[in-house]
Amino acid sequence: MDTYVYELGENLYINLTNRCSNTCSFCVRNGHEGYFGNKLWLKKEPTAEEVLGAIGDVSKYKQVVFCGFGEPTERIDVLMQVAKELKKKGCVIRINTNGQGNLINGRDITADLAECVDVINVSLNACDAEKYQKLCHSRFGEKAFEELLSFAEKCRDRGIDTVLSVVDIIGQEDVEKCRALAKAHNLKLRVRAYIADN
Ligand code: SF4
Repeated sequence: MDTYVYELGENLYINLTNRCSNTCSFCVRNGHEGYFGNKLWLKKEPTAEEVLGAIGDVSKYKQVVFCGFGEPTERIDVLMQVAKELKKKGCVIRINTNGQGNLINGRDITADLAECVDVINVSLNACDAEKYQKLCHSRFGEKAFEELLSFAEKCRDRGIDTVLSVVDIIGQEDVEKCRALAKAHNLKLRVRAYIADN
């Protein structure tokens, strides 16, 4: 049975796809079946109806987060359908993304997202394009890094609470460079501790 939704802490998470434009060397998918006991490899990507049908009472969750074993903007249409329905029910909607949604979809999706997304967490992962590509192996090459910054700026400008994030395993020096980069782009940065799950 595929896991389309799963609970973690106070939030509900939605697992729309296993596709991703990156193959990050640190990806939690590498060598794992799931995350905290939730098996997240999908035999079939869910429809919006299947996702909504798998969700019970949403009023108990602090946030509904699009974040699974893949990049949620790979399925922008289904993401939008589900997010709009949940927004009607008063949910706070967050997306965790690699920030390549505009490249993936070949158009600017940020206006669509602004209709129903409250918070967007864009993984910055590295302090420059070369290091990003070495770590994340985007199918779009080094331009992915500039594009994710531009994507984050557009989301911010459209009123979405936008946060860049890095994981502290990149080292203190690079974390400081990320701080400077975020500041230069007038974007918030969150430094996270690496969470391993076996
Ligand atoms: S962007 Fe996220 S889902 Fe995609 S490979 Fe990297 S860590 Fe994994």
